[in-house]
Amino acid sequence: MKFAIQSRNDEYSNELMDRAKTYLSDFGLEWNEQSPDIVISIGGDGTLLHAFHRYREQLSTVAFVGIHTGHLGFYADWKPSEIEKLVISIAKHQFEVIQYPLLEATINYRNTEEQSVYLALNESTIKSPDVTLVMDVELNDSHFERFRGDGLCMSTPSGSTAYNKALGGAVIHPSLEAMQLTEMASINNRVFRTVGAPLVLPAHHVCVLKPVKAPDFMVTIDHLQLLHKDVKSIQYRVAKEKVRFARFRPFPFWTRVHDSFIDSDV
Ligand code: NAP
Repeated sequence: MKFAIQSRNDEYSNELMDRAKTYLSDFGLEWNEQSPDIVISIGGDGTLLHAFHRYREQLSTVAFVGIHTGHLGFYADWKPSEIEKLVISIAKHQFEVIQYPLLEATINYRNTEEQSVYLALNESTIKSPDVTLVMDVELNDSHFERFRGDGLCMSTPSGSTAYNKALGGAVIHPSLEAMQLTEMASINNRVFRTVGAPLVLPAHHVCVLKPVKAPDFMVTIDHLQLLHKDVKSIQYRVAKEKVRFARFRPFPFWTRVHDSFIDSDV
């Protein structure tokens, strides 16, 4: 089996990376950053986002696992003190693979047929660089609402505990193939109206955002942020690709939610 390690690059994460690399090599596993079977992320959930995007083209063959060197994470749920246990399990191939849904974002432009297509593990957000964001929201080719406000966020189920949660979105179990649209400070008065609640859309639904005025947008894909100019539309749907996580022991999603947000002893 071939492995790679993504470190947050602080001193402690790098020290753990060196230890894990030595242990796994001693077990006869091959360090291979080009085409690993398993990628160990050491840091936090943010580090796993970086690992995900680094191996974005190899999602069907790579399995991810995360060790947290800060607080317990949703993707980074192994403690540093468990590193030997984890290494032995990896070396003995004692793991199953669980798959979580991803978000596909396709950006179309006004004067070209070219598209930008992205995959997000957590979410994609749209904001206007300077003025209020004004977007027509279409669901399955039907006009749903005209949004005015700070921005919109479309999240995956596993990203629902991240930015989505801070925006008042629901926490969604990652076994559900869905995506969730949340508002950022929508303008609602007698003239302007939005639904004012998060929308959870199933896998076969498509959400298209169309600019009403200014066509330039700040678009985030997880931790990545890019200015897109002359945008015609932004389409979101549940991706056909999935992300694979190596699971070595039961650690139910709701236990992680509890341990992360309610009881901070872990
Ligand atoms: P960051 O601003 O350095 O960290 C954002 C925080 O979100 C970190 O504490 C990170 O955990 C946590 N996080 C990431 N994915 C998560 C998940 N699926 N569930 C729960 N918490 C999660 O940025 P970053 O490390 O590059 O991460 C980018 C992410 O930040 C975005 O995908 C977005 O979800 C999130 N974000 C959140 C807000 C907000 O809550 N208001 C605003 C902007 C962006 P670790 O400390 O374990 O890395």
